[in-house]
Amino acid sequence: MTRTINHIVIAGAGQAGARAAEALRARGFKGSITMIGEERHLPYERPQLSKALLRSPDTPLAYIKHANDWNEALDIRIATGSAAIDGDADRRVVSTADGRSFPFDALLLATGTRPRRLPALEGAQLEVQYLRNVEDALRVRRHIQAQSRIVIVGGGVIGLEAACAAANAGCHVTLVENEARLLPRAFPAAISDLVADKHRNHGVTFVFSTTVTGSSSRSVTLSNGAEIAADLVLVGIGVTPSGDLAARLGLPVAEGIAVDACGRTAVPGIFCAGDAALQWSRCHGRAIRVETWANAQNQAISVASNMIGETSDYGDPPWFWTDQYDLNIQVTGDMRDADHIARGDPGSGRFSVIAMRGTELVGALSVNATKDMAMLRRIIATDARPGRADLESPAYDLRTALKAR
Ligand code: NDP
Repeated sequence: MTRTINHIVIAGAGQAGARAAEALRARGFKGSITMIGEERHLPYERPQLSKALLRSPDTPLAYIKHANDWNEALDIRIATGSAAIDGDADRRVVSTADGRSFPFDALLLATGTRPRRLPALEGAQLEVQYLRNVEDALRVRRHIQAQSRIVIVGGGVIGLEAACAAANAGCHVTLVENEARLLPRAFPAAISDLVADKHRNHGVTFVFSTTVTGSSSRSVTLSNGAEIAADLVLVGIGVTPSGDLAARLGLPVAEGIAVDACGRTAVPGIFCAGDAALQWSRCHGRAIRVETWANAQNQAISVASNMIGETSDYGDPPWFWTDQYDLNIQVTGDMRDADHIARGDPGSGRFSVIAMRGTELVGALSVNATKDMAMLRRIIATDARPGRADLESPAYDLRTALKAR
């Protein structure tokens, strides 16, 4: 049965929610759109939280759109300040923690993720900070400006980007990482080493294969028995899907909210996009959650079309970037369990690493090589299959691989 869609509710006012709302209007949807957000802010860009906002005290918050654009141009009702936490899939209604109810014909779950907590630091006397929203970032920034002694737990993207900002500002930074090297899921070992060396040159100390097991009011204790003085502990040890609402709607959420290529969940009329969505990845050969800015935006735009009866499949390979001092590093697809091909001279500071399984390109990483990455993303997305010898040759124009299709 085709349901008439007059009322769309978007649970989550982050990148995915905001871009879906815009896309609905861009596709001509004339019904009501309500976007529910837990934070008091209008939707804002999240990459700045671990980058620009930590670096400079003058950086203003970058919003996805200005207030008037939502209200006047897009006619979107934005209900901020309380998360959508409950709902009834049969009655087609969601409700917020502060008791407001919103009926829907179609619902988009764009509830994202929340930081994984570190049990050893619950109830600590020392200041412990996670980094998910603008208030978190401003608290970390105050410590950075005060040149505090900062222990960072987790050598992922949050930990490393915060370490850059803190080390550049003259803070004493120690980074504690579970694994034996940085970002082992995204980086080949040589890139982990390159990034670690860059940080060491800026004064950052690493403690690998270790975690934090306890704290006092002025220090943390590590699993190797060491004690490190700290004014702030910043924890960036990954995220888990925010699935309270999905669970109330009858959807399993442990690994994420499972969706098909159209963003449809197992409940008709309920869709999901962004960090919380568990979606098929051809590069990985399995369903994964894609925790990137680009996915939040592009999957949401695609899913919005499907919510109003169009058909749009989404399958972009995952892609993210990180700035580590003067290194711009971009990663697409899946770098693991593959042969790695070097393109360009690592000594030049500008090169790429391409991951292949058989004849298939499944991933790529670029260091200060944005043009290569733009082409490699398209090659992987279209499943073009240039040969290894061509890929290795800097003289080979990657556009050729696309033209040949
Ligand atoms: P990540 O998953 O990137 O990294 C977390 C790191 O912490 C992993 O290396 C993990 O190792 C390690 N770790 C886990 N548990 C412990 C522990 N107990 N002690 C020490 N280390 C531990 O997560 P982040 O928190 O850095 O980032 C959170 C989210 O923010 C991600 O979704 C990310 O995509 C997003 N983000 C993206 C940015 C970008 O794209 N540039 C920038 C900032 C944030 P293990 O693998 O063993 O668990």
